[in-house]
Amino acid sequence: MRVLGIETSCDETAASVVALEGIAAPEILSNIVLSQIEEHAAFGGVVPEIAARAHVEALDGIVEAALADSAVSLDEIDAIAATAGPGLVGGLIVGLMTAKAIAAAANKPLIAINHLEGHALTARLTDGLEFPYLLLLVSGGHTQIVAVRGVGDYQRWATTIDDALGEAFDKTAKMLGLPYPGGPNVEKAAASGDARRFAFPRPMKGSAQPDFSFSGLKTAVRQAATAIAPLSDQDVADICASFQAAVADALGDRVGRALARFRQEFPDQAKPALVVAGGVAANRRIKATLEALCSQAGFAFVAPPQKLCTDNAAMIAWAGIERLRAGIAGENTADFVPRSRWPLDSVSTPLVGSGR
Ligand code: ATP
Ligand code: MG
Ligand code: FE
Repeated sequence: MRVLGIETSCDETAASVVALEGIAAPEILSNIVLSQIEEHAAFGGVVPEIAARAHVEALDGIVEAALADSAVSLDEIDAIAATAGPGLVGGLIVGLMTAKAIAAAANKPLIAINHLEGHALTARLTDGLEFPYLLLLVSGGHTQIVAVRGVGDYQRWATTIDDALGEAFDKTAKMLGLPYPGGPNVEKAAASGDARRFAFPRPMKGSAQPDFSFSGLKTAVRQAATAIAPLSDQDVADICASFQAAVADALGDRVGRALARFRQEFPDQAKPALVVAGGVAANRRIKATLEALCSQAGFAFVAPPQKLCTDNAAMIAWAGIERLRAGIAGENTADFVPRSRWPLDSVSTPLVGSGR
């Protein structure tokens, strides 16, 4: 089985071919990702108009490159899988319409994929993980804990009630005058900082409600920065280190609760695992905290390679393969309309066009 995947939901234009033959492990035959980071950097964040235009310009070439790289012709592809939501609607339209055109021209089925489902199933592509497992998705647009019970069977246990974690990193960086994207720069600055200098809040820590919150932390950072401005390099480093410590602590508390709940709800899973996905999962301080938590709780800690943790099309192609294999690839998907909002636990099985 070979599927061509297309991803355009945010600021990466991506295409990939993934193959699954018999009982062999799946193989990523090509995985091309063009990041638009430089086009958005001057604005300190993703600008939807610019993103949509950049997808239009790049996508055809990226798809051609993915096919060429894979040495598989369009004829030999079984289906086209494309991200149909959630995300920026301009980009989604570009990707889904391109996929529909290719599918119609080549007479292949089109599979509309939920971007979050792509993230949720990646650990099965990279590590062959068995259901059920727990997913922590921490990116620029999402902060969620999801129980992954099967293909098309997801239960969201926690989400953020305000900012996404990546967004909190990006806003903190901006306040401190660090360049976009903020996450990697906050981490770099934190390396030479004193994490004990500022006692920032740990939002939601100890709360019986399972969700995340980061806006209070962001406000605390702003107040601290304003109080001691102008900031020296050491001040910035100390704020970053203290912020990161607060984030790791708060995250650890939330994830710890979810691990306990997982044990209760899935007592038969002898090899429980926590999978991380999203750009923030690159953060070493956060990774170390989660790793320690997992080893304490007897969970495997699975962090797929960074290139497959951030937005990519291999995960979309793989989700297509999973749906084909499970017989839930869907019908009438040529009618499928992009959805800017599309919660993972409302992914229907099988997927059908909206008929709109
Ligand atoms: P989506 O939320 O739709 O999946 P996205 O493009 O916002 O898309 P990613 O590309 O997965 O998400 O991740 C980008 C985010 O990850 C940014 O907010 C960035 O600041 C953050 N990030 C990247 N590296 C690090 C790091 N080392 N530490 C903390 N945050 C990081
Ligand atoms: Mg991105
Ligand atoms: Fe993503």
